[in-house]
Amino acid sequence: MSVLAMKFGGTSVGSTKAIQQLSAIVAQQQTEWSNIVVVVSAMSGVTDVLINSAHAAAAGDGAKAKEAADTLRRRHTTTLHELAGAAADSASVEASLTTLFEEFELLAQSVRVLGEASPRALDAIASIGERMSVQLVSAALRAHGVQSVALNAAEMVVTSAEFGNGVPKYPQTRDTIRKRIMPLFADGVVPVVTGFIGATEKGAVTTLGRGGSDYSGAIFGEALDASMVDIYTDVDGVMTTDPRLVPTAQVLDRLSYAEMSELAYFGAKVLHPKTIRPCIERGIPIRIRNTFNPAHKGTLVTSVAEATAHAIRAVTVIRNMNLMTVEGRGMIGVQGVAARTFGAVAQAGANVLMISQASSEQSICFVIPNSSSTTAIAALEDSLRHEIERGDIDRIKSRDNVVIVTVVGVGIHERPGVAARVFGALAQAGVNILVIAQGSSECSISMVVAASDGDIAVKALHDLALS
Ligand code: ASP
Ligand code: MG
Repeated sequence: MSVLAMKFGGTSVGSTKAIQQLSAIVAQQQTEWSNIVVVVSAMSGVTDVLINSAHAAAAGDGAKAKEAADTLRRRHTTTLHELAGAAADSASVEASLTTLFEEFELLAQSVRVLGEASPRALDAIASIGERMSVQLVSAALRAHGVQSVALNAAEMVVTSAEFGNGVPKYPQTRDTIRKRIMPLFADGVVPVVTGFIGATEKGAVTTLGRGGSDYSGAIFGEALDASMVDIYTDVDGVMTTDPRLVPTAQVLDRLSYAEMSELAYFGAKVLHPKTIRPCIERGIPIRIRNTFNPAHKGTLVTSVAEATAHAIRAVTVIRNMNLMTVEGRGMIGVQGVAARTFGAVAQAGANVLMISQASSEQSICFVIPNSSSTTAIAALEDSLRHEIERGDIDRIKSRDNVVIVTVVGVGIHERPGVAARVFGALAQAGVNILVIAQGSSECSISMVVAASDGDIAVKALHDLALS
């Protein structure tokens, strides 16, 4: 029994044409695979609309939710009519959609009355996007002659109660997925499952984090012992860097899991970083492919690394970062400063992307998004007040407008001279490096540079990747 898990992103389900394209791809893959599970995102932009209108409702603006409901209704019903208007089951699909529009309006209304959008309410509202799109995609497949049902992953993916960032629980998740899907496979049915969402043991809907449908694709692939997880998006594959920045950027044929994780973590938007984990565990290859150019074979991600002349495979950049430094000669040997520093930053809800500490222990520096810097500084000043008053900590410095540039390649740490070439290339381009860190998977080097140097740095380093 061969199983293929196919995940289609927001643009791949974003219009009638895209969904028709998807249907043709699924039908084509059915000639090669005995069982297919399809996992989909919400139509492009829908999750943003849902979340924004929830926030607006919390702030007392109910009109925005009403407007959003109308827009969503129009977009989804029009698409349904175009895809499957003639089909016998079209009316029942439309009825399911109507229930979802009503559910959205009801939830938004509750949020407005309460004056608060709790993480739990936000997840319930955000989940509606995928619950609508599975209806469309499944109907389209049926209209295309593919037997299919729409399923809600909240009935299968069991997560922790961390709303907005649910962590799947095993082995329950695997067991429930198998119990639900294997009988469908036996009947030759292609299940179309909501990406992005799960539910707690008690049944409260959770989400796996923004962009989490990729992760869902891998979760279903793993649970069903798939031989392959295809991630369909709107680009040909993973590129050596952002082609808008460097026109000579190329699609990579192959990457190792470690390289892909590092790229995803350091800003390559093509894949959610958590996607790799379930696939590594069972050695399931991941293919990144283009819905709109299915003839392109995309990027294949496996445990095998490609040998290259210069070890550097790709370059990424993460913008709008802030470099924070906690500094003080009195920090030497004082226990718990690092713990409290990061505790405070976590409490401020800031995501730490990179950490570096010099061995003299006189400073700790780390990188967080610009948008979190004000709250992070306040939290740090509060938590380290004692040390600041005593003079053990001299200052908390914050530098806005920095970027993280990362080079990725499995050979980077094994081969002497790679770091020298990286730093040499930046020196030659006149870029000053503020901080350096080596990635935990030992296949990357990240550097913090001023935002104004970001593009120059990427270009200089990309030349190394191609050479
Ligand atoms: N629809 C969700 C989002 O926009 C999940 C996804 O598309 O992967 O974040
Ligand atoms: Mg995505």
